[in-house]
Amino acid sequence: MPCQYLNFIGGQWVPSRTQRTFPNINPANTGEVVGEFQASGPEDVAAAFAAAESAQSAWGALPAPRRGEYLFKAAEILESELQAAAADMTREEGKTLPEAAGEVKRAINILRYFGGEGSRLFSYQIPSERDNVFCFTMRKPLGVVALITPWNFPSAIPAWKLAPALVAGNTVVLKPASLAPLSALRLVQALERAGLPAGVVNYVTGGGGDIGDAMLEHASLRAISFTGSCEVGNRLYDKATRRRLRVQLEMGGKNPTIVLADANLDFAAATLVNAAFFSTGQKCTACSRAIVERAIYEPLVEKLIARTLALKIGNGLEAGIDIGPTVDASQLKTDLDYIAIAQREGATLLCGGKRLTGGAYDSGFFIEPTIFGGVNAGMRIAQEEVFGPVLAMMVAEDFNDAMRLANGIRFGLSASIISNDMSRVHQFVNRIEAGLITVNLPTAGVEYQLPFGGTKESSFGMREQGPLALDFYTESRTVYLKHTV
Ligand code: NAP
Repeated sequence: MPCQYLNFIGGQWVPSRTQRTFPNINPANTGEVVGEFQASGPEDVAAAFAAAESAQSAWGALPAPRRGEYLFKAAEILESELQAAAADMTREEGKTLPEAAGEVKRAINILRYFGGEGSRLFSYQIPSERDNVFCFTMRKPLGVVALITPWNFPSAIPAWKLAPALVAGNTVVLKPASLAPLSALRLVQALERAGLPAGVVNYVTGGGGDIGDAMLEHASLRAISFTGSCEVGNRLYDKATRRRLRVQLEMGGKNPTIVLADANLDFAAATLVNAAFFSTGQKCTACSRAIVERAIYEPLVEKLIARTLALKIGNGLEAGIDIGPTVDASQLKTDLDYIAIAQREGATLLCGGKRLTGGAYDSGFFIEPTIFGGVNAGMRIAQEEVFGPVLAMMVAEDFNDAMRLANGIRFGLSASIISNDMSRVHQFVNRIEAGLITVNLPTAGVEYQLPFGGTKESSFGMREQGPLALDFYTESRTVYLKHTV
């Protein structure tokens, strides 16, 4: 019998009032149910918001360094079970065990980083133009905030929303993705075991379509932080702004890597393989367009194909595996559909392109890492997010042409360049339309202590992570204090 996991509301682990559950399936072995989770309904959401509302004033009044101590303690607890948490993540999401362990470590770092923010929560002290007036700003929590998270970073993303929200004095209702709710549950368990007061964090699982509206409509809600697809994010934006809720959206990408003619080809090929295919291409920051100067296009393609064919695809729990499965049947179908579309539109299939079958592959959602050549800017494979291991190769006539292609999309999440030409690199940094810019590094791979977020249609609202994350979760108050003696 698979383990049954409950909602966490008002400090208690409780079943949904719907009395229904849904299975969390291992995408590398669909015969394994990782756990049964609560298929919550609007009544569960109402209970979670009521708990968050009643806990908020006491939590917000607690000195911020003491709020931070709960995060330090939770980090310690999660660290003590890092390997088990990583294995859970691999089983529910499919990424390899080292990738999962790296992500849990990142969640631990995030808890510690924001634990430390409890002793800072910097604001301004600014001189007044009047005599004996002391002016300063201070940060106040917003109140009750909703966090809605995707499946692809099922521990790090909940952590990078929860930690700043909590240290700032907000209380939280967290809804994780239905495809990978266990990693978020482990975070909540760590916070519970750290002694977090009842109602400060509430965890409710269930289909976004079933409980999303109830979350957005709750009277006590002050802000919503969402990471996921543009389609869902844009819908949430419409509803939230009608109520003047504070909204933060982190969404899709179609991230380019420009490779200039001076690049070392082995280095460029290794960087592209890492950025495009690791985590099965299921990173919002994954590279899905390689824009390459004509002079090195053919030799780079050759090296890229050789490296791609050497990748080992399989169950991420096994040693030596480079790439796990896609997360579910629907994502696999999306990948295969885009591969078919690219072929119909005239792109050249250079390698991969098929679902993997036979033996253990038959019980999972495995796909070959895929490279298309001869892609032009008008093709859907050059414009739309696939969210799988599919790389589009595009030829650029020169640097300016590469910049034109790189910026010629509606997204603006991450972008990279591979070159040692400092003048071109500087121009790239200044002209590229992306929130995360890397040089001689993959498009993916962010550090917890720096701000993160995109531009154009990839993102809306304030930045996540690093010192800027607190801006979203706090409201600034300005004080003019006249002292008369
Ligand atoms: P998704 O389908 O938009 O789901 C994201 C979250 O929204 C899930 O918890 C989902 O719940 C929930 N949801 C779905 N419908 C909803 C509704 N009507 N109301 C409220 N919530 C609703 O995205 P995903 O497939 O999980 O994630 C993949 C996408 O996330 C990609 O586009 C990727 O680029 C993006 N992403 C962006 C970033 C970034 O920082 N920019 C990071 C990671 C991922 P259910 O799971 O129950 O459907």
